[in-house]
Amino acid sequence: MLVVRSAGALRAARSESAAPVGFVPTMGYLHEGHLSLVHAARAECRMVVASIFVNPTQFAPGEDFERYPRDEPHDLALLEGAGVDLVFVPPVEELYSPGDTTRVTVSALSHMLEGARRPGHFDGVATVVAKLFHIVRPDRAYFGQKDAQQLAVIRHMTRDLLLPVTVVGCPTVREPDGLACSSRNVYLSAEQRAQAVALSGGLRAAEAAFAAGERDAEVLRRVARAPIEARPLASIDYLSLADAELLTEIQGRVTGPVLLSMAVAFGATHLLDNTTLRP
Ligand code: AMP
Repeated sequence: MLVVRSAGALRAARSESAAPVGFVPTMGYLHEGHLSLVHAARAECRMVVASIFVNPTQFAPGEDFERYPRDEPHDLALLEGAGVDLVFVPPVEELYSPGDTTRVTVSALSHMLEGARRPGHFDGVATVVAKLFHIVRPDRAYFGQKDAQQLAVIRHMTRDLLLPVTVVGCPTVREPDGLACSSRNVYLSAEQRAQAVALSGGLRAAEAAFAAGERDAEVLRRVARAPIEARPLASIDYLSLADAELLTEIQGRVTGPVLLSMAVAFGATHLLDNTTLRP
């Protein structure tokens, strides 16, 4: 496994003859969720490239950019064990030169849900993924359904900018009790960690109601909220039942596929989870 830190070295190492090239962008502090993306890429591609980059432009001032967990040696060992060929670990200046001012905005999908909670977040995400796609030139790129709005933004950005990349969405990997794997789970106290099972509990409750025939959007939202509201340390940032493509909030009855998504705060830590309900 080769580790490179400059765009020039990445371009030189990316073999032209190794198509298809699969790409897994990450912010590091890797867990089983990240590795599932690597496994999917490894199964489908001749060359697998991963990146580790904590992207400053997707963090607002006062968010956790400085204290975001980092452990590069451990990450590199995990990537090597998972069969990655090439890892790109650029310093910030490699992707954002002095005076950098260009941003990619996926207008219709960036201002609700996580975008309302974190203004500018998806501009940072779309911008860094566009830069990474430009440098790595992957045939296929792998993202987690765990960050469903991010996946939707990247799909639209790739299509709108005519980028020759197939975006592959992969299922959410969970801890044994149902909590979605996340680099930010390390921020949780033992008590918060125990109560965080309520996110997946809310999703499973809504899935059960949906399977039993419930189609009223407000009732489904209420069913999903109940297990979370029962946990004293949890505070719901938002809980949404939205059109799975457009991310617009559903009123009345559910007729097509919908994304049930939520952000829940435990102290300063905000956890995300979601599921898709299909009639
Ligand atoms: P991050 O390092 O948080 O930027 O995540 C890098 C990639 O891993 C993104 O495509 C995430 O959606 C994906 N990812 C994060 N957590 C999970 C998970 N629990 N299951 C599957 N994919 C995940």
